[in-house]
Amino acid sequence: MEIIFWCSRGSVPVCGPEYARYGGETSCVEVRSDKGGRIILDAGTGIRRLGASLLKEQASRADLFFTHTHWDHIMGLPFFQPLYQHGFRLNLYGQPRLQGDLPKLVFKNLLRPPHFPVPYNQVMSGIDYQEFQSGLEMQGFYLETIVLSHPNLGQGFRISSDGRTFVFLTDNELGYCHRGGASFEEYARFARNADLLVHDSEFTPAEYRHKKGWGHSTCTQAMELAAASRAKRLGLFHHNQDRSDHGVDDMVQQCAGEINGKGMALECFGVFQGQVVRL
Ligand SMILES: [Zn+2]
Ligand SMILES: [Zn+2]
Repeated sequence: MEIIFWCSRGSVPVCGPEYARYGGETSCVEVRSDKGGRIILDAGTGIRRLGASLLKEQASRADLFFTHTHWDHIMGLPFFQPLYQHGFRLNLYGQPRLQGDLPKLVFKNLLRPPHFPVPYNQVMSGIDYQEFQSGLEMQGFYLETIVLSHPNLGQGFRISSDGRTFVFLTDNELGYCHRGGASFEEYARFARNADLLVHDSEFTPAEYRHKKGWGHSTCTQAMELAAASRAKRLGLFHHNQDRSDHGVDDMVQQCAGEINGKGMALECFGVFQGQVVRL
């Protein structure tokens, strides 16, 4: 399995020399199986470059899941070039119990004047809305989901393929249970033995004291979850819009120090734009 992080920033896209290494585009992750399967998680601004990549390799289909429909996870969709290609098929997946037909509603509202000049009915690719449940098998993947602890809810993913497991929990607050969300122990069970856990790391512990209930976690909470779930690697994700490259480095160092101090066999890194992780 191969995971391509087209971006890792949270809340709003940013640019500038202080963000050069980790990047400024918002959430979009591509997961590939060894047998050629591919799924996409989120349509943040990073999906623009993924779209160009799909056209380059002459792909004719994309399967897109959303963690949730906050702006930073959907705002790249109108700039996903395959939308405007005849013959391209885009499958959008939503869970009826959790999101209802939100992906469909959101998509139709995104592509509508005065927000965007091209109306939905002029999109040339075929768009299919599919309902799914946790436990979905497709294209060599096994997908399980868990409800996120986040305002307006959302879903986290556990994706297994080729004997490896990737767990993606962004926009998840471990220190506070939002309505409908799960407990720390439930998230630890969900991420058990993951080869890679990528988790929300929006805040430092000092910042979090004033941001409790905002729907995001600290780097140390993410590390504690990785330890409790016995994950092999931890990727810090959803970097705060004001967090410079040095700031992300500091978070990684803080986690690495605690990991070493506890003698754990856990690798921690900050997810950067364009990063490819092979499991
Ligand atoms: Zn977000
Ligand atoms: Zn969110």
